[in-house]
Amino acid sequence: MKSITFSNGDKMPIIGLGTWKSKPGEVYQAVLWAIEAGYRHIDCAAIYDNEKEVGNALEKAFKEGLVKREELFITSKLWNSNHRLDDVMPALKKTLKDLKLEYLDLYLIHWPVIFKRGVGFAQTREEFYTYGDVPLEQTWEGMEEAKKMGLTKHIGVSNFNIAKLQEVIKTCRMLPEMNQVELHPFLPQNKLVNFCKENGILMTAYSPLGSGDRAASSKKSNEPSLLQNEIVKELAAKHGVSSAQILISYSVHRDIAVIPKSVNQDRIAQNLASLEISLDESDMEKLKNIGIAYRFIDGSFFTGPQSPFKLTDLWEKE
Ligand code: NDP
Repeated sequence: MKSITFSNGDKMPIIGLGTWKSKPGEVYQAVLWAIEAGYRHIDCAAIYDNEKEVGNALEKAFKEGLVKREELFITSKLWNSNHRLDDVMPALKKTLKDLKLEYLDLYLIHWPVIFKRGVGFAQTREEFYTYGDVPLEQTWEGMEEAKKMGLTKHIGVSNFNIAKLQEVIKTCRMLPEMNQVELHPFLPQNKLVNFCKENGILMTAYSPLGSGDRAASSKKSNEPSLLQNEIVKELAAKHGVSSAQILISYSVHRDIAVIPKSVNQDRIAQNLASLEISLDESDMEKLKNIGIAYRFIDGSFFTGPQSPFKLTDLWEKE
């Protein structure tokens, strides 16, 4: 399978299975279907509240000889309530226990937003820490420790803009190896992609299909549709594939890993088959000039009136 390569030569399969919103009752089967279909990369996170079920599926896959541990690339993420140095390792160990693994391939700081220990989603001012309380440098030190101990092969961040990456780069001993962000034709992230390339940081595109199964309360009423977009549909017709496959192929063509979520067996297989699509320059040019700019995961749930964090702490000005 096509992959992207870390500086030490390790490879990450370019298409992975997303697992956010995959319910405990569904994700077990979804992971097994994915492995059977040929996926070798699964994207997880503690806050998705389904890592135990993912772990059960991995255990079954190993037991039945579907795949070996070293053939799989497993990512997970440190939640906002575990940014203190003392909390990083216990959080990672809990994830490893739930996933029934001895090591991760990649561990990411999920958001540059900090909650107090034990808080799921901070609502009141008291439930947040500030960067003064827990500098990113401190959290990154915990990530470095995790890598040194061999609990994860690679470390990185998610939802970090250029300023935040620069902050980590300035003080770190080990460079961040990955930045996982929302990325698709409505949000090409050109500046961030260039910065990451220049600094040897790989990228992963999340919500590549527009994250249509998010709670209605987190969607704006005028949200545009990637899957129904006329240019995407036109390219899908041209290549005899689905709109989803064009959107996945868009990241593959930019050498950016991409992690579409599905719990449906046919769509899981279809999404991986996007690897076979060959988009030409004019196709990519059309997607580049799609004429809509939109961020689906807008971060407003972390930046309300009670929060010390602002949207400028999260996003790049495009
Ligand atoms: P996606 O953009 O992957 O969209 C998922 C939706 O698309 C689901 O409703 C799914 O339905 C549907 N779908 C999947 N395949 C197809 C297809 N071939 N045709 C039509 N519809 C399809 O959304 P996510 O937000 O889940 O993003 C993907 C992954 O990225 C997450 O699951 C998570 O792992 C990661 N992520 C990381 C974030 C971070 O902060 N680091 C934030 C957001 C996501 P069905 O399941 O029924 O097929």
